[in-house]
Amino acid sequence: MSEASELTVVKALLAQLGTSPQKALGQNFLINESVIAKIVEYFEIKNKKVIEIGPGLGALTRKISLQTPFTTLIELDKKIISFWQEKGYEVLGQDALKVNWKGFLPDQNILISNLPYQISAPLVIELSVQKTPIDKMVLMFQKEVAQRIQSLPNRKSYGIISVVAQNVWTLKKVADLSARDFYPSPKVESRVLAFEAKSDSAWVSKKFLTFVKHCFQNRRKLLLNKLVTYAKSKGMSKDQVLLILASLKIPANARAENLEPQAYKSLFLELNKA
Ligand code: SAM
Repeated sequence: MSEASELTVVKALLAQLGTSPQKALGQNFLINESVIAKIVEYFEIKNKKVIEIGPGLGALTRKISLQTPFTTLIELDKKIISFWQEKGYEVLGQDALKVNWKGFLPDQNILISNLPYQISAPLVIELSVQKTPIDKMVLMFQKEVAQRIQSLPNRKSYGIISVVAQNVWTLKKVADLSARDFYPSPKVESRVLAFEAKSDSAWVSKKFLTFVKHCFQNRRKLLLNKLVTYAKSKGMSKDQVLLILASLKIPANARAENLEPQAYKSLFLELNKA
């Protein structure tokens, strides 16, 4: 199918459902056929369990279904929910940010989504710090959010989401997209990232997120002050913090944005040893 015909399908389905793209639900439908193939084919999904957030009019869903019958859809738009249910799909009609991911246990699942932009950053954080049965993901982001997720230290883009996501996932860029690849065209550029869970990430939890958030308050001030207040809540002294920093070869005058994601892991584990 050419891009023009994917656009034709989208327009025909919108007319059939008697609806139009809902901005509040981030409905920018994917119409670039080669990107659709890249997303669906990135991981081997043949007969595997796939979860798709926001199937919309099915640009990805139809391709996924050619590979596996084990697909669960998560969608908020009522007309779209009925459309897929009538075709026999299992659809969770709820906000992807409120899903109980443990309900999908014990299987390994692959998450695929052209995410509505407004939920993408909080969703990646949730899926990183919760124990979920998802071990692979291919997700579409606003390019700037994808850059924050992959950012190296010492950049403006480096922050909480970079530290948390890079401790949990091995990340790869899959594709860059322009506004023309969607209908209607968004005002921003987009990027698709692939995530593969690291085998040694079982220690990551909401407590780690709380720690990283604490460290990034006043990101330009000395990290030491933040570590000392955190350590105090654990009954540890400033001297103990200085010893930990020295043992990890982290300079006492470092700022939050200077530390590698791995250094946050080491600090967190040391400060929570007792
Ligand atoms: N997968 C389709 C595609 O690629 O063309 C549609 C993607 S569109 C960017 C986002 C989809 O997510 C829409 O179908 C929208 O209704 C749905 N959606 C928006 N907010 C949601 C939420 N909080 N939870 C689940 N689905 C949501």
